Amino acid sequence: MNEYSQGFEADTGKILKIVINSLYSDRDIFLRELLSNASDAIHKRKFLGQTNPAILNKSDDTIEIVIDKKQKTIEITDSGIGLAEKELAETLGTIAKSGTSSFLEEMSENDNNKDAAKTLIGQFGVGFYSAFMVAEKVVVTSRKAGTSNAYFWESDGQNGFNISSCGQSPNVGTSIKLFLRKDAKEYLDSAKLKTLVKKYSDHITVPITIKDSETEAEQANSAQALWTRPSSSITDEEYTEFFKSNFGAFDEPYLKIHNKTEGAIDFTNLLFIPKTAPFDLFEPERKTRVSLYINRVFISKDIEGLIPTWLRFVQGILDTTSLDLNVSRELVQNSPILKKISKSITKKVLSELKKKLKKSPEEYDAFWSQFGKVIKEGLYEDFENRDKIIDIIRVFSNKQNTNITVNEYLENMADGQDSIYYLTADTLKQALSSPHLEGFKSKDIDVLLMTDPIDAFWMSQMAQFNDKKFVSISRDTYDLSAIGSKETKKPKKSKAAKGTIELIKSHIEDLVADVVESTSLVDSPVKLVASEGGLDFNLERILKAQNPEYEGTKKILEINTSHELIKKLPKKSIDVQKALSRVLFEQARILDGEMPSDAQKFSQDLITVSLND
Ligand code: ADP
Repeated sequence: MNEYSQGFEADTGKILKIVINSLYSDRDIFLRELLSNASDAIHKRKFLGQTNPAILNKSDDTIEIVIDKKQKTIEITDSGIGLAEKELAETLGTIAKSGTSSFLEEMSENDNNKDAAKTLIGQFGVGFYSAFMVAEKVVVTSRKAGTSNAYFWESDGQNGFNISSCGQSPNVGTSIKLFLRKDAKEYLDSAKLKTLVKKYSDHITVPITIKDSETEAEQANSAQALWTRPSSSITDEEYTEFFKSNFGAFDEPYLKIHNKTEGAIDFTNLLFIPKTAPFDLFEPERKTRVSLYINRVFISKDIEGLIPTWLRFVQGILDTTSLDLNVSRELVQNSPILKKISKSITKKVLSELKKKLKKSPEEYDAFWSQFGKVIKEGLYEDFENRDKIIDIIRVFSNKQNTNITVNEYLENMADGQDSIYYLTADTLKQALSSPHLEGFKSKDIDVLLMTDPIDAFWMSQMAQFNDKKFVSISRDTYDLSAIGSKETKKPKKSKAAKGTIELIKSHIEDLVADVVESTSLVDSPVKLVASEGGLDFNLERILKAQNPEYEGTKKILEINTSHELIKKLPKKSIDVQKALSRVLFEQARILDGEMPSDAQKFSQDLITVSLND
């Protein structure tokens, strides 16, 4: 007999402790996790059996729960695909993806983060390991379909596991026996287990039976896939339970979309949008989470192309009778039918989100803060849906001091305005204090403040919307003189002012394209603007990305000649004038979110200026 022990992959014991701690009050969920694995295994056997009939189950599929009050065990047995010896070691020997441990530790240090930690744990797929919340020992016996030997896997969840062969076995499938912890004896009560099955696992399509020494086996679930029922017969609680038990959520979804589509292509979708973003939303290897079923048979959790990547936070199921079960996953993935279904559900999600936005902009903004960045990817990736996406994006209006839609911006444009003005910055605070806004404020022209890195990208990429150009007020050239009230402050061109400008220019000639008197600054002394004939901002960005040394074209420094500091400048010594002129230039860069062009000189200049004030 072949027997061996193996330590867990690094971190497993540690993670397990954290999981047990933060999930303790929800430890009932161990059952739904094990039942959901059992159901997946049965579906997998059915699916693989389509192309390899030898492994199909000839009798009825079942999931049995047997309670042994004497041994203090519960055992869950399924007629699924089973696990080969190697799979036992590999799939049950690793708990989660690398990096999970440090992440979880950080989360669990802070008690306020417990809910967040829970949400995350749900997504890590620690599913099987939740058994250790109630068991001090777990024994898995499994025979893989298509083989004749069964194997044991045994572990206390802390010190690794043992695997041994147990020879030939009559039954294909997996049985998981839990030796309950002292504080978990409540799970020996069949009535309790029945309630849990009903609550968390009712939708599992395979009958789940429960039996203890005193009772006959009794079916505990209705075994009907939730999505096959008419939505009018399903309560909100049922939807929420389904969402929680299938997608590791601990709260209600923000949005649920359940439809049956009939016609050239038949399919049913039951989709959810969670309230909080998963931790791995921006990980490149993150897969989408819409499970594909063909005629109720589970095919895959992550068929590529079923939902666009800019909707990768949508979770749920898609069940269709229009695809053929007998074909490979690759064929399914590339099928034109799948593409059509994808198009159709994308449109549905967009129109449902639009409705949600209309109904409650406040709630929508909470959703937007979680997923807005991802949706914006659609603006440059999904040309076909761009106009619909732009309808549901939220942008911050400087004038209204709240989120609005781009359409609302267009509706409220000033007389004579033909561009959509925006300002990008790292934070809202930085944007709000930008000197670039001063001219717009004084003319009551709205500016969209954008703080996601992706914003500058999609807007320059899109170039315009409804014939209105997107114009960056810190990087592009523009002219406000024809907009709104006509009383643009004309530069006074006083002799003194002209002299000051020339003076500053003489000191920083090498740094700027020009120095001019500002017509728009009110409170700030300076700002940098694009020079006419300078390179397009977008082009410059690409050049910079290709060559880090590339400095970009020089800008124009606008001077507010009514500012006290500027008025004082000519009275200073030449050295101080020089230092102050450079400080003004660097300050304007910093306010645009850039680094000083010469940090060392900048700090020396600051000292010179301060000492001579
Ligand atoms: P997840 O289900 O999210 O992958 P789990 O920890 O619950 O994570 O399970 C890990 C893996 O172990 C599963 O993906 C599956 O391959 C295997 N597994 C678990 N339970 C069973 C079972 N009853 N039958 C067959 N394979 C199983």
